[in-house]
Amino acid sequence: MAQEILQTMGLRAFTPMVTACPGCGRTTSTFFQELASRIQGHVREQMPHWRAQYDGVENMTLAVMGCVVNGPGESKHANVGISLPGTGESPAAPVFVDGKKTVTLRGDNIAAEFQAIVDDYVATRYTRKAG
Ligand code: SF4
Repeated sequence: MAQEILQTMGLRAFTPMVTACPGCGRTTSTFFQELASRIQGHVREQMPHWRAQYDGVENMTLAVMGCVVNGPGESKHANVGISLPGTGESPAAPVFVDGKKTVTLRGDNIAAEFQAIVDDYVATRYTRKAG
């Protein structure tokens, strides 16, 4: 029982906040869902290390959105957000950091580039723990 509670607490503490839209007819491919799950996996994997190194990183919020309808708005509310192109949109994915558009990603490397932006955000935004 106690172990269960601890596990629950541990899971809670390590669960990053990634908002991903559910997807709908406005997005053609599963690309954004794959990106959302890739980002979620990456953050989940890294969070225990980040938590050991940086103060407050567990409060970071991310958004991975599928089209322009809710993408930019939702992305602006997250610490780091990306709005992927939906059906008929130009193949560009604006990235927002703390509410400001910082870069627009294009091409085949969007997932890796967004991941690098998140890693960089953690390293520059949060204070390294002493020792
Ligand atoms: S953000 Fe776009 S793709 Fe995602 S659920 Fe909303 S309308 Fe659909």
